Amino acid sequence: MRNGLSKDLIARVLGGAPKYTIEQLEEMFPPRNLPDGAMVTRFAPSPTGYMHIGGLYGALIDCKLAQQSGGVFMLRIEDTDTKREVADAVKIIEESMHRFGLAYDNNPVYGPYYQSQRKDIYHSVVADLLERGFAYPCFLSAEDMEQIRENQKAAGFATGIYGEFARDRDLTENEIIERLDKGGVPTIRLYSMGNPEQRIFCKDAVRGSIGFPENNEDIVLVKSNDGLPTYHFAHLCDDHFMRTTHVIRGEEWLPSLPLHAQLFRMMGWVAPLYIHTSTIDKIDEESGKQRKLSKRKDPEANVAFFLQAGWPVDAVVEYLGNIAASGYEEAKMKGQVESFWDYEMRAKKIPMSGALFDMKKLEWWAKEFIGSLSVPELVGRVVVWANEYGTDINKMQVADEKYLTGVLGIERDNPKRVRKDFITWSQTLENVAFFWDELFVPNTEYQFNQDALREFLATYNPTDDKDTWWAKIVAVAEKTGLKNGDVAMNLRVALSGRTNTPDLYSIMNVMGGERVIKRIEKVIK
Ligand code: GLU
Repeated sequence: MRNGLSKDLIARVLGGAPKYTIEQLEEMFPPRNLPDGAMVTRFAPSPTGYMHIGGLYGALIDCKLAQQSGGVFMLRIEDTDTKREVADAVKIIEESMHRFGLAYDNNPVYGPYYQSQRKDIYHSVVADLLERGFAYPCFLSAEDMEQIRENQKAAGFATGIYGEFARDRDLTENEIIERLDKGGVPTIRLYSMGNPEQRIFCKDAVRGSIGFPENNEDIVLVKSNDGLPTYHFAHLCDDHFMRTTHVIRGEEWLPSLPLHAQLFRMMGWVAPLYIHTSTIDKIDEESGKQRKLSKRKDPEANVAFFLQAGWPVDAVVEYLGNIAASGYEEAKMKGQVESFWDYEMRAKKIPMSGALFDMKKLEWWAKEFIGSLSVPELVGRVVVWANEYGTDINKMQVADEKYLTGVLGIERDNPKRVRKDFITWSQTLENVAFFWDELFVPNTEYQFNQDALREFLATYNPTDDKDTWWAKIVAVAEKTGLKNGDVAMNLRVALSGRTNTPDLYSIMNVMGGERVIKRIEKVIK
């Protein structure tokens, strides 16, 4: 601890007297009135104009834990790095959360939820630290810091502003005033009393207690250029006054834990419980090694990719949920729960490392999910997707909803035996493309038996029921000396261009007599 600054000097250093005392802030943001065990969580993205799949993964865990415990899930925009700001970035975040069904509850009592609008709170807290000698104004310029860094490197010391290198940590009030008079605009730094020779034990809810060397860096709390806080200081103030109980964040923050513990201790506040989540990795196609999903190399790193490509958002949620809570898949397969939202996940079991995102596995979840939809639900999803993201061809396919319903309804009347060959909305439309004359590709390789087709056409009646229809196929087989299945195959290929399709009778029914006759005639001629 150093000598605290006078209130006047604090006002001068911060460009204005702090608006609130700590007591006032405590009253403004009262402890939440929630049942025991209720978790208060937040998703706290920086608005970079991009929503990473890892962000969605974290937000899903936040949302789920709050929801299942009867707590509160918030969205806080960490926009203190004004240099990195991107237009529409917040819209992209909000929209993504909405699309993936992550509903947050930003009660105005605990707001504002944009860090850039919380300056008064940060300044009030930092004023308290300045007054108690836990923080100080620092006038080191960028060049000064560069010089210090060079010297430290040359001498083989750890880099950073700490101990003897923290030139301004013990400036007197007069020295501070002198520098302010000369036009100096200080950052506010932590006056660290940590000793790296000593260990501090910090708790991570999954990893347990972890020993770290104490932090001795006088890290920046409030920046000089815009008076906004650094992540560390904003986290302290926001998660305390928003009454966050659980901070779920990426493992890249784990090394900051001793610093955060130190900050909470200095304020005499109880720190939230931390859970540091694994990065979302993939197996690199070239090297075969596991690596983080990269914004640059992997389209699937961006959640927008899944929306555009027509992956069912529910399947993405189910899959990410199963990465976070590996028991979910089994519970679902046993029919104990219907969706991830019904499954009781355990915070302690969130994987610490190596969470793998595998598109093949996602395919499985997508097939399962689409298999569980009713025909109207399936049609609805496909139509909405096609109209928003689809090609002109896709839009044409969904224009006649009645026909589409017939097409997608094939082999879907028995919920226990639904075909599971649909993966994405775009692939679904591609899979059934042959139903549209514009998209139908006749099979030029198949050796058709013209006689069989001719015989069938002669007796074909579009209103035949399935038994009558089959009896006619059998009759054609007898006449032509083919097997029943061969006759059906001739029809199947003539109508779809494919040798593998769902139920042939249903296909003919949906296509209608006119289209069926036209396609068969085309082969005969
Ligand atoms: N803005 C920080 C990030 O995007 C938030 C980390 C946290 O959740 O505390 O990494």
